[in-house]
Amino acid sequence: MPRAYQKCSGTAYWSGRIPNCTDLGNAIRLIAFRIEESKPVETISFGKSSVDREYFYGVVTGGGAYGPGICEKVVGMSARGDLIVERLPLRDDRSGTKRSGSVDYALTGDGVYRAYGYADSNRSEGPEAFFELRGDALKELSRNQLNEHLRAMSPENFAKMEHARCKVARRAELLPEIQAEVTEFAADGERLEVTTINVDDQLQLSRLTVTRHKSCGHFSEISVNDLDELIANLSAPLGVCTYCEAHAAKTRAAQEALERLQGTASEKNLPPLSGSMRQIKWALEIRHGFRDKNPGSPLLKRATTAKYWIEHRDSLQS
Ligand SMILES: [Zn+2]
Repeated sequence: MPRAYQKCSGTAYWSGRIPNCTDLGNAIRLIAFRIEESKPVETISFGKSSVDREYFYGVVTGGGAYGPGICEKVVGMSARGDLIVERLPLRDDRSGTKRSGSVDYALTGDGVYRAYGYADSNRSEGPEAFFELRGDALKELSRNQLNEHLRAMSPENFAKMEHARCKVARRAELLPEIQAEVTEFAADGERLEVTTINVDDQLQLSRLTVTRHKSCGHFSEISVNDLDELIANLSAPLGVCTYCEAHAAKTRAAQEALERLQGTASEKNLPPLSGSMRQIKWALEIRHGFRDKNPGSPLLKRATTAKYWIEHRDSLQS
């Protein structure tokens, strides 16, 4: 991140430290490394595989478990940030079962190449690697070096991808800050949870979604453009929770239906039944059917629990 980098270099600069032996040692090593680096390399090894200026040699190890690997030429980057690659001519010298042997990928001149899926040893696969061929020089590329190449190959897409990455990083950085602020706005018994935030092209907060966990146990979602809008939204009268209200209405309707059923029963001189609402409703239906067939049965007055009617429904209905 550019900001962090500036901060680091700023600190080092202002500390005014005098170079010591370690610094000098490091400087010498760095110079030695630079000299080493500028010498053209003949081959580079990637685990059990290697590359020279003409071929990438991939071998199969572990009885066919690892390798031979894939080598491709990198020619650019898509707008989504994926590498655009070209396949290379392949010579396959593996056994019939492909459990041993090797393959050669012919490099196609100057450019950047990617290798992956190659055998690092007899027991593992190596990490994705990049290298560059330029004239006589063969050089393994670090991530940063690869990025410089990609930036040159696909400047527009690279900039887009970099900007998208910046936005993702900015969102991750902003989320805890926004959450801390939003927490302060919660009323008693409530909890406010920031679920998503978006940033605009200037990396400023552009939209946030907050889940409001209400004191009744239900929750609602609030989507707003900024914190002021959120405060305004939270300050508005809460009103009745629609879920609570719907639940209450359902309970009321069931209670009324039950009362109607019990009422019909008492009109016919039958006692009300005890039990849960659902049990009573069902038991009344069973008793109703039983009464039609056995109008004079003493059971009609004696059995006053819903449980009885439900338990004996099979024998009562037959
Ligand atoms: Zn509620």
